[in-house]
Amino acid sequence: MENWQKTFLETLICLEELSDYFSMDLDSLNPVVERYPFRVTRYYFNLIQEPYDPIWRQCIPDLEEIKDLESPIDPLNERKFSPVPFLIHRYPDRVVLLVSPTCPTLCRFCTRKHYVRNNPLPMKSNPVEEAIEYVEKKPEIRDVILSGGDPLLLSDEELDGILKRLRKIPHLEIVRIHTRMPVTFPMRITLSLCRMLKTHHPLYLNTHFNHPLEITPQSSEACIRLADAGIPLGNQTVLLRGVNDDPGVMKQLVQKLLILRVRPYYIHQLDRVRGTRHFRTSVGRGLTIISGLRGHTSGIAIPQYVIDLPGGKGKVPLLPEDVKKEGKTYFLRNYLGEVVEYQDEED
Ligand SMILES: *Cc1c(COP(=O)(O)O)cnc(C)c1O
Ligand code: SF4
Repeated sequence: MENWQKTFLETLICLEELSDYFSMDLDSLNPVVERYPFRVTRYYFNLIQEPYDPIWRQCIPDLEEIKDLESPIDPLNERKFSPVPFLIHRYPDRVVLLVSPTCPTLCRFCTRKHYVRNNPLPMKSNPVEEAIEYVEKKPEIRDVILSGGDPLLLSDEELDGILKRLRKIPHLEIVRIHTRMPVTFPMRITLSLCRMLKTHHPLYLNTHFNHPLEITPQSSEACIRLADAGIPLGNQTVLLRGVNDDPGVMKQLVQKLLILRVRPYYIHQLDRVRGTRHFRTSVGRGLTIISGLRGHTSGIAIPQYVIDLPGGKGKVPLLPEDVKKEGKTYFLRNYLGEVVEYQDEED
């Protein structure tokens, strides 16, 4: 095992510790964690300052998760856009490759919360052979996004193997890695990982900070190491009720990210996945946040606020000045020029 894997395993929080630290009633949580597994790194857990703070809400199981029975399991219709296992091909020129079945910390709001598992380590990658052959056969694919789960939960060796396979494909221009590792287990960003990654340029990395509390000396060091390896860094934030649905919090977050050489890329409207209803915010909240940034901070600090349209119709960026709305219905035009109706949430 690689050293970081040992540390990772030795320091995971066990469920019983929740009752030790916060005197939580574990019996009442059992139905939640049986449905949606629990996993939190000690590093991330230690960022909690008090119950129900922004870190707590992201990682501690909540009874609300199993009260949400109406929302769909696959609102983006990813199944329909999956021609071979572990690959999502929705846009013509780019695909998502699901290399890893799990993440270091399982976020309670996760879009894939029905698929991610609490796999033991050392963990095998998903069997992506067929998916890589698919990319080889399609010259129109120029961009592969490694996602999961978290690709950086694979060992350096296994990840290197997958990247080498991909780099042999002549028509593949760029590879992007989507990982929350700098946020929830920054010790994974070792110098040997960075040395390996920089042999596979042009490589981009998008991470996922949701709150300024997540910017610590350790997560900062992780980002600095990746940036020093010449990897352009982006950040995707998910808009979450009770976590970051506030213009002041978002402004602080995006400005702190720039100091770490991380460029804010997207703020995502939360997908309507079953088990996450208690995190939803209205679209108006997102637009207020964008209005609070535009003109009030550096242009490069401002991410695009996007809704991933239900049914897999694509991501649409929203700007406060050009949204079309009637009552609670937004009319959103996707990249194919289709106008899609989107019903807003209660505020
Ligand atoms: C978001 C997404 C992408 C990448 O979108 P970009 O806007 O290029 O970052 C690709 N495929 C799928 C299925 C996606 O959901
Ligand atoms: S890091 Fe991403 S994929 Fe993993 S649990 Fe969190 S939201 Fe889901």
